[in-house]
Amino acid sequence: MNVLLIGPPGSGKGTQGELLSNRFQLAHIAAGDLLRAEVEAETPIGKSVKEYLDRGELVPDEVIIELLMPAVGTAVDNGGYVLDGFPRSVGQAQVARGLAERAGATPDAVIYLEASRDELVRRILGRAKVEGRSDDTEAVIHNRLQVFDEATHPLVDYYRGRGLLHVIDANQSENVVADRILAAIAHLIP
Ligand code: AMP
Repeated sequence: MNVLLIGPPGSGKGTQGELLSNRFQLAHIAAGDLLRAEVEAETPIGKSVKEYLDRGELVPDEVIIELLMPAVGTAVDNGGYVLDGFPRSVGQAQVARGLAERAGATPDAVIYLEASRDELVRRILGRAKVEGRSDDTEAVIHNRLQVFDEATHPLVDYYRGRGLLHVIDANQSENVVADRILAAIAHLIP
């Protein structure tokens, strides 16, 4: 099973991605985590993307696609993926679609975690105290939410048009959201 999780920062992609991957033995591939690991390890990729992450801007498409594709290929050979944080624009989705079709790695379902702005900001500021991410400051959060609205939200119509979209009310607690996701993908569970 291959699942995409899309949603604004704070909508629970990481949490729900982890739950889904554990439940169905899928590889959890988190685009932001992979990028932060590169920054942390000070690799050439990490050095080239640090400023984008710090500002809450999207890194160039080629960079994220090259970083993700090997992980996606391995995941597909081992039962599937939960991809969280990719694609983040219709352009990325179009490139990924071509690559995925050739590799037999197309998504079976796309989950859109939808939450109110107040709830998102509340969660991110709560997380900032625990994780200390450089992009969890108020100004950068504002920019990340705007990038979501402008670049990423159009994916909702893109995937609805392809018949893959499931909209989940992500204002609820972790358990309720998890149950709703399970109900939405029940048709994919053997
Ligand atoms: P996240 O951990 O998903 O909130 O992502 C953190 C940051 O990583 C984002 O604000 C972007 O700077 C970068 N990023 C994550 N996923 C992508 C992507 N698919 N395309 C471009 N940049 C991304």
